[in-house]
Amino acid sequence: MSSNHVDGHPFFRFCRTALENIRAQGRYRQFTPLARQAERYPLYEQPEAAATPATPACPRDREVVVWSSNDYLGMGVDPVVVEAAIQAIHEHGAGAGGTRNIAGTSPVHTALEAELADLHGKEAGLLFVSGYVSNQASLQTILTSMPGWICFSDRLNHASMIAGIKGARGSTTVIYEHNDLADLEAKLAAAPADAPKLIAFESVYSMDGDISDIAATCALARKYGAMTYLDEVHAVGLYGAQGGGVSQRDGVAEQVDIIEGTLAKGFGVHGGYITASSDIVEYLRLSASGFIFTTSLPPAVVAAALASVQQVRKDGWRRERMFERVNTFRDKLRRAGVPFTMTPSHIVPIPVGNAERCRELSDRLLNDYGIYATPINYPTVPRGTERLRLTPGPYHTDQMMDDMVAALTHLLRLNDLTEAPPVAAMA
Ligand SMILES: *Cc1c(COP(=O)(O)O)cnc(C)c1O
Repeated sequence: MSSNHVDGHPFFRFCRTALENIRAQGRYRQFTPLARQAERYPLYEQPEAAATPATPACPRDREVVVWSSNDYLGMGVDPVVVEAAIQAIHEHGAGAGGTRNIAGTSPVHTALEAELADLHGKEAGLLFVSGYVSNQASLQTILTSMPGWICFSDRLNHASMIAGIKGARGSTTVIYEHNDLADLEAKLAAAPADAPKLIAFESVYSMDGDISDIAATCALARKYGAMTYLDEVHAVGLYGAQGGGVSQRDGVAEQVDIIEGTLAKGFGVHGGYITASSDIVEYLRLSASGFIFTTSLPPAVVAAALASVQQVRKDGWRRERMFERVNTFRDKLRRAGVPFTMTPSHIVPIPVGNAERCRELSDRLLNDYGIYATPINYPTVPRGTERLRLTPGPYHTDQMMDDMVAALTHLLRLNDLTEAPPVAAMA
């Protein structure tokens, strides 16, 4: 059909084959368009036009209860946060208009950086366009700054950290087993004593919902002269007296050299950041390509994030309510005999263990029950550990939980999830 001159290019054939393989392995990803209803979170609307092959019978717009949002506290729909964005957009317009260096630094950018530094008890903070970029850019820049860097990286670190570490040409990477401090110590001890070392790890690992021992990791860092870099993306807003993360909860923030976080999950808006000593922040501000050469976050986004951080710091009720909801939901699952993985965090994984079944379980929840829970498949988690990852929040009601438990109870009992739904469930 097309006479494009690259038609015969091998990449075209490559893509076709790769996509076929992805489908054959049951890990083709269909995005489900869902329109969040700001005043009725966690309710979303599934527009008729957006019906996917997974939802062929969807007759009209319908309500869906979302159980997989990373806006853990609902801050993205908080009236004060929304109003801050509207005010700022009227005052400053839609976009930032430049990089931070080229007219893209508004007073609200620097105010948010100061607020985040204060939240984590650090001298300075630096905003990035996302959490992903903050990890990628900071780690790559640090690990290429001097010759001989060795980065000790937890095996389950997020893709954004791995991107930064792998991108740091000339540095050495040593992967230690997940949350295994004996393995980390053995590897630190085996490394040349005089090499500059960095330990990169997370607090809450969001797929398994487990939490690292920050104090013990920092103690090893001191013993072997390493710096520490902690991703608190799934913890900021949720843990600690002011939402400063697990490092704040455990009273060890000052022992961590660099704390990284996002404004897009617990804080519900958008953007990423690091906080550290002013020398480290200044060095990254002046050297990190991913910070320098990109248009800065729109002032309205930054104003909304600032309003969110300020509220989350002073109001503990959202955190308390979230953990109360998590515990109530686990009780309901337990009483109904629905298997789930117990975690020390706010994350409730429902193990499924097979990509196809996981996808089908998610489809059936959506089609038959109007419940959305994302299937978590390879490559996000290892094959054989596929799961639904549920994140109950302050706005999930008892009724929503009972509906979810009933749906799971029914569906998990089915051997064949492609079997027709019961009439009652369709009503
Ligand atoms: C989501 C995530 C990020 C990236 O944050 P964004 O703000 O979404 O780009 C970084 N680290 C971890 C562990 C994450 O889960």
